[in-house]
Formats: sequence, structure tokens, C-alpha cells
Amino acid sequence: MTLPRLVPPATIDPSSTDALRAEVRAFLAEQLAAGAFTPSVDAWLSGWDETFTAAMARRGWLGMTVPPEYDGHGRTSVERFVVAEEMLAAGAPVAAHWIADRQIVPSLLKYGTAQQKSEFLPKIVRGECFFAIGMSEPDSGSDLASVRTRATQVDGGWLLSGTKVWTSGAHRAHAFIVLARTAPADPAHRHAGLSQFIVRLDAPGVDIRPIISMNGAHHFNEVILDDVFVPDAMVFGQIGAGWQQVTSELAFERSGPERFLSTFMLLAATAEHMATNPTARDSDLGRLVARVAGLHQMSSAVAGALQRHDPADVPAAVVKVLGTSTEGDIADYADLCAGGTGAHPALLELISVAVDQRPGFTLRGGTNEVLRGVIARGLGMR
Ligand SMILES: Cc1cc2nc3c(=O)[nH]c(=O)nc-3n(C[C@H](O)[C@H](O)[C@H](O)COP(=O)(O)OP(=O)(O)OC[C@H]3O[C@@H](n4cnc5c(N)ncnc54)[C@H](O)[C@@H]3O)c2cc1C
Repeated sequence: MTLPRLVPPATIDPSSTDALRAEVRAFLAEQLAAGAFTPSVDAWLSGWDETFTAAMARRGWLGMTVPPEYDGHGRTSVERFVVAEEMLAAGAPVAAHWIADRQIVPSLLKYGTAQQKSEFLPKIVRGECFFAIGMSEPDSGSDLASVRTRATQVDGGWLLSGTKVWTSGAHRAHAFIVLARTAPADPAHRHAGLSQFIVRLDAPGVDIRPIISMNGAHHFNEVILDDVFVPDAMVFGQIGAGWQQVTSELAFERSGPERFLSTFMLLAATAEHMATNPTARDSDLGRLVARVAGLHQMSSAVAGALQRHDPADVPAAVVKVLGTSTEGDIADYADLCAGGTGAHPALLELISVAVDQRPGFTLRGGTNEVLRGVIARGLGMR
């Protein structure tokens, strides 16, 4: 039996992006020297810093793939990948713009109307418009076809009612894209009758309730929609095509470098700790470095596939399963090697945050169990 190739071969010549990498590293060194940020693990999800976002915007590193007609920079997905990778490796606070830049930009370019593109893309490029994701619900996470948020057509638009949960950053974002049911569920066609809407988070009828994490952080929210009016102009894509649209959005959400670099800062700090504490040396460090290097190759290959508009849901699932497992293994490894020792307080803080965040790595954006099902399908095994 010959198994199909799951991840496309990497076709990008790394030397083509060396100059850009050097530029981003110089920027990060300047920002660090100026005390603009403290490097952190998982900073793409929890490091919300609008000043840092504005500094990136001034360098032209937001909405890089947005065409110039929408005030964008007309650069490639691979160039965006390079900037993202460098920011993540440095533990820079990129959470404010992350969702807008990662998945709203490509989704708007693919499915947005001219009006939606003109309204949102220039603001995203300037670092002035932040988005959240309204997919999960109290009884609907892995199985998004079961969402119960309902959209009912009225004069000039739609009325949305329902509850979204685990909505990262909704208390700070300007808008979110909501997946809602626009036709009754049909057991024979579970994925039919779903649609997406761009919903302003300050619209009447939107109630954002904080969900405080065990470490005291406010990151998650429950967002209750009570007859929220969404004008026809904010229907996103085609009514009834929500499932196909969400699937293509998830390829962007699952394959990026944030799926293997969330704890890279910690790996670097652990290596540093070992260099100065010879008794703590351990060869497993090399295994983790090798896994990160392999993931870099795979993830950049998927960035190339997305640039060519090739289907990427299966390779994205492979990157996410292997990448998020590696991120968690780095947290455990650092905790084992340096946690509880007389390590530098900054390293102990990174370990503590990584261990707190670890359970979320393999859940957010689709659980590893579910993604293994996607991979099995890609292999023709189910
Ligand atoms: C840090 C973080 C940030 C998040 N941010 C957002 C956000 O901004 N917006 C948003 O909409 N959602 C967000 N989520 C929610 C996330 O997408 C869901 O938690 C995830 O999709 C799983 O859904 P669930 O929690 O309902 O678990 P469930 O779907 O109830 O799954 C429970 C368990 O059953 C397993 N399981 C379920 N179905 C299957 C199956 N078919 N085969 C095998 N095993 C299965 C799962 O793997 C899991 O272990 C976030 C989650 C986290 C952790």
C-alpha cells in the first residue's frame, strides 16, 4: 500500500527571505533595547499590545498580503510567514492583530465584498482593527455543524441570537465573524444551512462576559447575542456556504508558525540555562531542536501551498498535531530541567506561563484527536 504524501515538499529558497529576516531581527533588537516588550511564551495569544502592533504597522508588516488598492503591501504569504516566525521566536506581543492578520485578511480577500474589503482591510493594515473568532459554542466545539446560534432574515438584514464561548480577545476586538445557522439542521446534510456574519462587538444586543482563567488572566469570553441586527452588507460570503468557508479559514488558522513556536522562547532560555549550568545538560534538547527545525520546513511548505491556493486542510492538520505536541513537550522538558531549581526568575516565569497555557495548545483551533481524524481521511483510511 502506498500512502499519499501528506505535506507538500518545501519549495521556498530560504535565501530569498534572508534580507527580510535580518530586517525583522534588527527591529526586534531595537524594540527590546528600548524596553518595548518583555519576551513571553504564547505571546501571540496573550501578548496584547496595541503600541507594538502600531510599530509593526509602520514597518509595513501587517496585512502584508493585502493588495495596494486596499492600502496593503502586496507581499507574499511566504514573506508574511517569515515576519510571523521571527516575531514568535522572539516572544513578541502580537496578539492584538494576530487573528485579523492571520485569517481575516485571507478570508476577506477570498470571500469579502468590495465594501467589506474597503471597510476592514485598510484598518487592519494600519493596526487599527482587531477581530475575534465566533465559532465555538457551549455545546459545539469540535463538531461545529451543531452550532445553535440562529440567524433569521428580516428587512435589510439578519437577527442573530445565540451564545459563543471561549472567544479570545472579544473584550478588546472591534468585530468577530460568527458562524450561525440560517436554515434548520438537516440530519442528512449536517454541514448545510450554515452562514457567516461580520458582527461588530459594540452592536446593540451583544453582551461580552469575561471568563477568567485559573491563573487570573482575562483572555476568554462568553459572547451572548440577543437579536443582534446584522445588515445584509455584513453577510460574509454566501448564505449557506458557511461550512466550506470555515474549512478554508481553518487551514490558515492551523498551519502557521504559531502552532510550533508558542514555547520557542522557553526552549531558547532552557538552552541558555544549560550552557551556564553544565550539570543540567541533556541530549533531549537536541531532539526538541530537531523537531522544531522539521516543523519549520513543514509549516513553510504549507505557506507555499496556501500561496498557490492549493487545498491545505490535511497538511495544516499534520503541522498542528505535530507542532502543538512539540510546544507542550518543550514546556514539560523545561519544567523538568530547570523548574524548581535555582534557575533565573525570568526562566522560572516562562516555565510557569508555559505550564499554565500547555493544555490549550492541543485544543485551540481544533483538538489533536479531531485532527488525527482529518489526517486519517487524508490517508484514505476513513
Ligand atoms: C486557548 C484557547 C483559545 C480559544 N479561542 C477560541 C476563539 O477565539 N474562538 C472560538 O470560537 N473558539 C475558541 N476556542 C475553542 C476551541 O476551538 C475548542 O475548545 C475546540 O474546538 C474543542 O471544542 P470543545 O472545547 O467544545 O471540546 P469538545 O468538542 O467537547 O471535545 C471534548 C473532547 O472530546 C474529543 N472529541 C470530540 N470529538 C471527537 C471526535 N470526533 N473524535 C475523537 N475525539 C473527539 C476532543 O478531542 C476533546 O478531547 C479556544 C480554545 C482554547 C483552548
